[in-house]
Amino acid sequence: MERRLLYCCVLIPRLRSTGTGYAKSFTTSHLLCKRFVKGKTLSSSLWLTRHISDPYVRQAQIEGYRCRSAYKLIEIDQKHNLLKKGSVVVDCGAAPGAWSQVAASKMMNTIVKPKKSPPSTIQDKKKQNYSSEYGLIVAVDINNIDPIEGVTTVMGDFTVQGTQDKIREILNGRPIDLIMSDMAPNASGFKAMDQECILKLAQSVFDFSKVMLAPHGSLLCKIWQGPETKGFMKEMSVYFATVNRLRPKATRKESSEFFIIAKDFKH
Ligand code: SAM
Repeated sequence: MERRLLYCCVLIPRLRSTGTGYAKSFTTSHLLCKRFVKGKTLSSSLWLTRHISDPYVRQAQIEGYRCRSAYKLIEIDQKHNLLKKGSVVVDCGAAPGAWSQVAASKMMNTIVKPKKSPPSTIQDKKKQNYSSEYGLIVAVDINNIDPIEGVTTVMGDFTVQGTQDKIREILNGRPIDLIMSDMAPNASGFKAMDQECILKLAQSVFDFSKVMLAPHGSLLCKIWQGPETKGFMKEMSVYFATVNRLRPKATRKESSEFFIIAKDFKH
């Protein structure tokens, strides 16, 4: 699973940056896939075949997003207008960083483009301004997140107190306007167990939001459909004026994933 994630989200977009355009990067990906598929199990080969023919993967390569999941957030935001200039956003489970790229480009007008060189002094100055003039984006993940212009990254398990304390430190007293979570455990294949794990992650984001959200703030949270999801949404509706679910077009057909969009936090 981790190798797949690495391939999907990191390797192909990196290949893109070595080529001169989409055609070259797609050919390179194809060749690499052919080599990669050799000697792999049938399920790995099927996954790779599906992956390279996925229009969202191709689109992400063209537009410089680190992952196809960017298009889920773009669709959600088009419908719910969650990402606003000047606001404070915490992105949980942010690696490799596509959601944060989307947030930064919308909130801070950054250009979505993989960066090779370290930021210059001028860019450093711009970065300092981000937190005051343009808002603040904090991205958290267990895995490393390569730097994204306008985004402050934290490496750690979100469910652990120490990680949440680091986020608090960065926020420096500012309440959060939007907490978004695309966190997902590594799927074991045992549906009930996986659902329980993702629900635990969602619950920890919900608990954090109860303390950290600004009045009228929003919570966007990924979940996998299961027997307890209805109860979870009901619990959320005690704290938010509206709680809706959305399944973006970019969600794979076979996935039980959907997103809960809870708006207008009642402090
Ligand atoms: N939204 C991301 C993007 O657009 O690039 C993709 C997120 S990926 C589907 C799910 C992420 O959740 C993984 O990077 C994983 O490391 C992270 N994750 C899972 N459990 C976590 C936890 N307890 N704390 C922090 N991150 C976690």
